[in-house]
Amino acid sequence: MKGKAAVLGLDRKISIIEKEIPEPKEDEVLINVKACGVCRTDHHIYHGQFNIKQPVVLGHEFSGIVVKVGKKVRNFKEGDIVAAHPIISCGECEYCVSGHSNLCENAKVLGGAGEDIYDGGFQEYTIVPEKNLRKFNNKVDFEEAAFAEPLGCAVRGIQKSRLSLGEKVLIVGAGPMGLLLVQLASIYGASMIIVSEIDEQKRKIAEQLGAHITVNPKEVNVPEFVKDITKGGVELAIEAVGKVETFETAFKSLKKMGRAMIFGVPGDTAEYSIPLFPIYYEEYEIIGSYAVSYESFNIAVELLNNKRVNVKPLISHRFKLEEILSAFDLMDKNVGLKKMIKI
Ligand SMILES: [Zn+2]
Ligand SMILES: [Zn+2]
Repeated sequence: MKGKAAVLGLDRKISIIEKEIPEPKEDEVLINVKACGVCRTDHHIYHGQFNIKQPVVLGHEFSGIVVKVGKKVRNFKEGDIVAAHPIISCGECEYCVSGHSNLCENAKVLGGAGEDIYDGGFQEYTIVPEKNLRKFNNKVDFEEAAFAEPLGCAVRGIQKSRLSLGEKVLIVGAGPMGLLLVQLASIYGASMIIVSEIDEQKRKIAEQLGAHITVNPKEVNVPEFVKDITKGGVELAIEAVGKVETFETAFKSLKKMGRAMIFGVPGDTAEYSIPLFPIYYEEYEIIGSYAVSYESFNIAVELLNNKRVNVKPLISHRFKLEEILSAFDLMDKNVGLKKMIKI
């Protein structure tokens, strides 16, 4: 039996091939992938910005149906609707045992960036270890379930940001991640959520999903605007684009003791120089947030199961597996929100 797969080859080209369907080992599960979101990371790898082994099947935001389980698998059966946590951590290093499996020293990754990569979700059939699968109830469809990974990243970000009831928040960038962060900030009880975003359509969606005020950084000086409207600045500013200038916008919008989070993926050589005295004198904090832990993934699954987060407005385009290059083309041009591959 064979299944279709979009394989990124050594020549940096993606081709659709027929691949032998793998047999799950005793602790593994074979999934028939139904939906896989295209992430910026996939886009970066496709353009050669991260050095990873090839050939490889990318895609780390996927959901599907269980088709076959290994001998020792107890918690899943044929027909279950599942999503995969893409970081297979060792469970033994100091980060794993303290609940930060995203920082595991020996991690393997399904379809994503990392030193040790297994094939991911841009294919009809894929293998996932049982411990990396989570189940959904039947009110969640495959597209929604495919958001478990990005939502888990946003959960990790909000947890690390220490956002608390009544704080004012600036979110810089209303891409899919920014829009998930807006909704989580709302659940956490932010008293004001300000979103800075160039694209008018994305600003509108941000408003529908809980942003109180949106601004176009092409038209206003965002830090000045934020300091004016909040009478001094926000407690928390989250950079969700991955650029130096958007981080600067976040940092400069803080009040004293404010926290700036680097959430968007910066280029690996990106630098920003900060005068040290104000960090000392005004007690600013700079926080990073990377990927998803088992804990934040579990929370994301429950938020989706209970319809606490609305992910449908975040999907701007849907493609078949054969059309995956069209999704990357749109990302080249920065058009739209989440591109979903339906398999
Ligand atoms: Zn991703
Ligand atoms: Zn570990």
